Order: sequence, then C-alpha cells, then structure tokens
Amino acid sequence: MLGDVIRGAARQEVAGALGSGNSDLLVKGSPGQGIWAEVPWLSVFDPLVTRTATQGYYVVYLFHARERLVHLSLNQGTTEVLREFRGSANQVLTERAVFVRRRLADFAPRLPVHAIDLGSDRPLPSGYAAGHAMGMTYRSGAMPDETTLRHDLQTIVAAYRALTFRGGLTTSTSSSPDEGPTDLLEERRYRMHRRIERNPHAARRAKQHHGIRCQACDLVMAERYGSPGEDFIEVHHLRPLASLREGEPVRYDVATDFAVLCPNCHRMIHRMADPSDLDALREVLHATS
Ligand SMILES: [Zn+2]
Ligand SMILES: [Zn+2]
Repeated sequence: MLGDVIRGAARQEVAGALGSGNSDLLVKGSPGQGIWAEVPWLSVFDPLVTRTATQGYYVVYLFHARERLVHLSLNQGTTEVLREFRGSANQVLTERAVFVRRRLADFAPRLPVHAIDLGSDRPLPSGYAAGHAMGMTYRSGAMPDETTLRHDLQTIVAAYRALTFRGGLTTSTSSSPDEGPTDLLEERRYRMHRRIERNPHAARRAKQHHGIRCQACDLVMAERYGSPGEDFIEVHHLRPLASLREGEPVRYDVATDFAVLCPNCHRMIHRMADPSDLDALREVLHATS
C-alpha cells in the first residue's frame, strides 16, 4: 500500500505509516504546479522546524524527473538558501548535508544512501541533490515490502527528531552563556526549550490563550514602554527541561504547558532552580515587593 502511495503521492497513507507517536508531524504534498512541478515531492514537516518546503530541514520523498525511482531523503529547504546564497547555494547545501551526517553519525548506517540524483540540473532539483543528507532510494519494479518502507520512514523520522534535539543545522554550542547549562545534554535540552517557545505557531496560540500580561509580575509591556511594547510578551514553555528527551515528540497543551512572561521574568525563571515552577517566581516577586 505505502509503495503505491509513494508512487501515487497520497498524503494520508504516509501520515498513517508514521505510526501513532508522530501525530504532531505535518504531511504535505507537492502542489504540482509552478516551480514545484520540477520535482514532485511528499514531505514530513516537524512544525517545530518548518511548515513549508522552502525552508528549514525535513523528510521528503523526491521523485526522479525521468526514471521511475524515488528517494526518501532527509533534506533541506532549498528555496531559502538559493535566495540568500545564489551562485554558491549548492555549496552551502552540500556543506550543511555533510554537517547533518556528522551530527547524525549513529543514523547514517541505517539510512545508507548519502548521495542522490534527480535527473535534472535545474536549480531546485540540483539543490535537493546537494541538500540530501541521508536516506534510501527505491526503484519501481524493485520496491521493498510494506513493512520495510514503513520501517525506513520511521527510522528517518527518528533521525529528523534527533537532529532537532541535537541543534538542527546550527553549530553554535553556547546559546545561553549566563543560564549556564553545564553539559551537552543540558545544553541540548535548553536549546530545544527555546525552539519550542520561539515557534511562532505555538507562541501565537499561547498568547491568544494567556493574553499579554506577564503572569509573574503583571506587567503589560505597552503600559511601560508605549507603542514598541504593544502586544509584546514572551512565551515560556513550562515543561521541566529534564523531561525533554531526544526522539520524543513534544506534546504540549497551550493552556497548561505555556506561560506568558515579560523578558525580565523570563530571564529570571530560567535562572531559578526549577524553570517550570511559575509559582516559585511569583513568590519571590511577592516577597521582594
Ligand atoms: Zn514579568
Ligand atoms: Zn523559557
């Protein structure tokens, strides 16, 4: 079934093949028009990373221009890179793909295809060829069975999640000098936390739910800063950092897992013993006021 799907590019089948633990992921197919007609694709997006094929990195089935073959690929949004780097875009994509293979060295043997060809040297297909980090290639007539296809998909999704947890495409190793994570795992958890709360979709929903008044000190930014503070508030994810685990989807409920905080309170809660304890921060503020 999934084999037909990949050939026929049906979205629901792929969504079903992801398995129950992956319902947060988005599956989208190529609209088959405009620039996208160059490379028909079917993608799996983690909304923490991207919701579109033009940017970020994601899992994608890419269909060869002429031959009956399809690549399952951990790849990158090429449009964004083309716009920024133009003539050297493919070099940037290649370097990033090498970086991803290094960051995911433990997955590379299980996703052994490390170079792909899409049969076209136009910008988009050659960008995808350059941006391919790891994956599998299937040929029509030699399609593996359903179980294998499903297993490959779940393996590459696990690699995708691991990449995000390990820092995505960013090499930066210290994103929070003053909050002071002491080891690699803590640092990864901290960066994951920041990624969750900076995610525009979740942030917007959290603001809709909680409003824009700081839930620790009651400040409304516009009341102190005027128009630059209009509608401004930061979003803080309340799940304890230690509970963030590589490979696990981030499940969150806007009502219970997020708070809105002014920038000062947000910085301070991250310096407290338990950054998920909003009541403790409130108590400190009451004690000192
Ligand atoms: Zn505050
Ligand atoms: Zn936070």
